[in-house]
Amino acid sequence: MLRLPTFTYHRPKTLAEAVRIKGAHGPAAMYVAGGTDLYPNMKRRHQTPSHVVSLQDIRALHAVTVRPDGGVTIGAMARLSLLERHPHLLRHFAAFTHAVSEISTPLLRNMGTIGGNLLLDTRCTYYDQSFEWRESISFCLKKDGDICWVAPGSPRCWAVQSSDTVPLVCAMEAEVELVGSDGTRRQPAGELYRDDGIQYLTKKPEELLTALHLPAPGRWKASYLKLRRRGTFDFPVLGVGACLWFDGSKIVKANVRLGGAGSFAIPATDSERLLVGNELTDEVIAAAGSASMKPARTMDNTDLDVYWRRKVAPVFVARALRACR
Ligand SMILES: Cc1cc2nc3c(=O)[nH]c(=O)nc-3n(C[C@H](O)[C@H](O)[C@H](O)COP(=O)(O)OP(=O)(O)OC[C@H]3O[C@@H](n4cnc5c(N)ncnc54)[C@H](O)[C@@H]3O)c2cc1C
Ligand code: SF4
Repeated sequence: MLRLPTFTYHRPKTLAEAVRIKGAHGPAAMYVAGGTDLYPNMKRRHQTPSHVVSLQDIRALHAVTVRPDGGVTIGAMARLSLLERHPHLLRHFAAFTHAVSEISTPLLRNMGTIGGNLLLDTRCTYYDQSFEWRESISFCLKKDGDICWVAPGSPRCWAVQSSDTVPLVCAMEAEVELVGSDGTRRQPAGELYRDDGIQYLTKKPEELLTALHLPAPGRWKASYLKLRRRGTFDFPVLGVGACLWFDGSKIVKANVRLGGAGSFAIPATDSERLLVGNELTDEVIAAAGSASMKPARTMDNTDLDVYWRRKVAPVFVARALRACR
């Protein structure tokens, strides 16, 4: 049985107190939301904070607010099970509720939060293993070692972006709010991530994610499509988030993001270019789908065959685009 290491558990009641505790302990402290990612990681000794700062008692982080323009501000601690059943989200943000409902299992969605999902650790076959398993291969770059077993000549880690909501919220140009010792700031969700399996977030370590702002409903349509081995539960090995903005039947802006295919939600820029200025016909969908094969930089570090995953990207992108009709 894997056991948690010893740690001091903090339950601050305010944002300021949480940030202060995290700042005081530096890298020895980590925030915890639902704990469905952090606690398994601690059991496998991926992360070994001696101070864990729970966000559970900070009431403001649990709120889900429908703004006057119909957009929704979701507190970082909002539970996934609440979001997937939220009437306004179901009606106006069906792609988002679908992505949320694809995360893990009902039990885990009852614990897991949107904040934890947006900040989910990257994953890799050589990393998501017990300490003893990792020790038997002398560890790897991401934790405790000095080699990447997926690409031994590479100076970087290629662990995979594996959150179901990230490709979609990036495509939708949703925004995130962060609070740190320098105050509060708001930025596009897409700017929260970088293409690196270890330093996969751009935020400062002590910064706390407070909210996700979904844009007002309008002349755009979004979709999310996930590839995984089992329909019941599995992390995505490909997750396509698409969002198209229309003027009449013509596409005026297009965002297509590939999750599970690299260390961040990769923009399929050629596909986006082929969509803009056109109607969403079968031919345009097929061409945009085909153009997504190149950016799908799959590596042999998740489930399913690496070459097949790459080949199937055009099919999944085309299906995700069709769902935007
Ligand atoms: C069996 C299993 C299957 C899973 N399947 C999926 C899946 O299919 N798709 C998927 O996307 N995920 C999956 N997950 C991962 C996880 O359950 C979800 O991603 C969940 O949403 C994580 O949320 P949490 O609140 O539990 O995060 P936590 O575990 O509490 O936190 C995750 C990380 O975010 C940090 N953090 C959390 N909240 C904040 C905040 N507000 N500010 C700053 N830092 C914060 C923590 O320090 C930690 O590093 C699975 C997990 C398990 C155990
Ligand atoms: S991609 Fe390489 S460095 Fe990163 S977790 Fe996997 S084996 Fe380790």
